[in-house]
Amino acid sequence: MDPFVPEVTVIGGGLAGCEAAWQLAERGHRVDLLEMKPARLSPAHMTPLLGELVCSNSLRSDDPETPAGLLKAELRAARSLIIACADEARVAAGDALAVDRLQFSRRVTARIVSHPNIRLRRQLCDELPSGPCILAGGPLVEGGAARTLRRLCGDRLYFYDAIAPIVEADSIDYDLCFRGSRYHQGEEGDYLNCPLSHAEYQAFVAELLAGRKVTPHRFEEPRYFEGCLPVEVMAERGPDTLAFGPMKPVGLIDPRKPSEPPYAVVQLRAENRYHTAYNLVGFQTRLAYPEQKRIFALIPALHRAEFVRYGSIHRNSYVEGHKVLDASLALRAAPHIHLAGQITGVEGYIESTAMGLLAGVFLHDKLTGRPLSLPPQTMAMGGLYHHVVTPRERGEKYVPMNINFGLLPPFEGKAAKRAGKRGRRALHAERAREQLPAWLQQIGVTADVTADVSANGSGLLLRDAEQDGGGVVNAAEA
Ligand SMILES: Cc1cc2nc3c(=O)[nH]c(=O)nc-3n(C[C@H](O)[C@H](O)[C@H](O)COP(=O)(O)OP(=O)(O)OC[C@H]3O[C@@H](n4cnc5c(N)ncnc54)[C@H](O)[C@@H]3O)c2cc1C
Repeated sequence: MDPFVPEVTVIGGGLAGCEAAWQLAERGHRVDLLEMKPARLSPAHMTPLLGELVCSNSLRSDDPETPAGLLKAELRAARSLIIACADEARVAAGDALAVDRLQFSRRVTARIVSHPNIRLRRQLCDELPSGPCILAGGPLVEGGAARTLRRLCGDRLYFYDAIAPIVEADSIDYDLCFRGSRYHQGEEGDYLNCPLSHAEYQAFVAELLAGRKVTPHRFEEPRYFEGCLPVEVMAERGPDTLAFGPMKPVGLIDPRKPSEPPYAVVQLRAENRYHTAYNLVGFQTRLAYPEQKRIFALIPALHRAEFVRYGSIHRNSYVEGHKVLDASLALRAAPHIHLAGQITGVEGYIESTAMGLLAGVFLHDKLTGRPLSLPPQTMAMGGLYHHVVTPRERGEKYVPMNINFGLLPPFEGKAAKRAGKRGRRALHAERAREQLPAWLQQIGVTADVTADVSANGSGLLLRDAEQDGGGVVNAAEA
């Protein structure tokens, strides 16, 4: 048998690392996959298995007219290892794709260890290799790999997320807010101001204080920066702290009521260039998600707000991709090192999987001298990718994102407006479906995909794990 000479090293056997390794291996490249488990476990990982789901067992909705469903449909059609294993380990969960987490990880492990082009090495990567590699160490990346990344990215590598909630633009009540920046500085259209009377402000603060907060994991002890305090921590400092802080009304005049200055104002800032989503400026929070929905609805203009993403504060290593990555997801400062998964600046299981699949495909393109197979921005995969690499406007803060339709170009015109929210979701799904076959062809997937983009489709499953002799594998022995 010829000796195994790896062409590529992938660091991290999580969702993204396994997906990237698989995509490369299926395209004929020999891959060394380095995983530090079981000798070393991050504070969130508990098993020796690859592709471990560290928290929920849900990969969210499987309806292709939802953002998460569309992303999964695209991944399924692109022959994602992770989605194939999830389909096989599915448990009943209505519209959602939820899995038996042990079955799922066992299947991922079995596929990886039995692929002839992958060599799994259970060791910590302390020094990044000098040859082509993909770093997929995840939000809790460890060891020298993390230190090297810090050296190469400097202050563009973050270790904590402090995120304010983001709401859908068309769920804001525009009759109860007004446009304009403080003292009319900057672009007037970029800010929406949601005024509160004194009574409304007091009721809001009381609920903020009483609302249920998320208990941090033991490795996430609160270490807040003064400039980035959770809104509820600020509220604890005194009844008017917020009115003098992120809710200060100074310089904000409601043109409809110029003689009636608001007691407090919540400012919303456009989250993307399409102005389809807005974030609540300065409202990073540890309130539980249902509490955010309930309490932020007390802001009059947000009484029917729908959330693109809830606020959160948690440990998370990620880069500001548009500053440090090139189009192939390689570090500009070290172009042989590619990033994949959550560390690229996305959030969530399926998003990390997508950024693993793309990293694997792009590295294959580079190794074979082909143009990069960039997914069109109108696809969910493309929207996510462009969120990571597209330069920001006017000092806009980078926020790691779950997939949402706000990342895709919106539909203009009266017909789209008339279609309503449901109709626009269907339009997004249809447009992405139209773009998909050409991109699949570009990445070398030529099978008929029609079955796969429908909900629950699994027509393109890869080889069956049972046939690989690995339906149940003791990964510690792998
Ligand atoms: C506490 C917590 C709860 C979460 N809950 C959810 C949730 O409910 N739903 C959701 O969608 N997302 C959740 N996430 C986010 C989710 O975990 C990530 O989006 C996803 O797992 C990221 O995939 P990844 O492959 O990038 O990293 P991971 O899945 O974390 O995989 C990284 C792998 O790299 C290995 N590794 C790290 N450093 C090294 C090294 N130097 N050498 C060798 N191996 C290394 C690790 O052991 C791990 O196996 C949560 C994250 C955390 C931390």
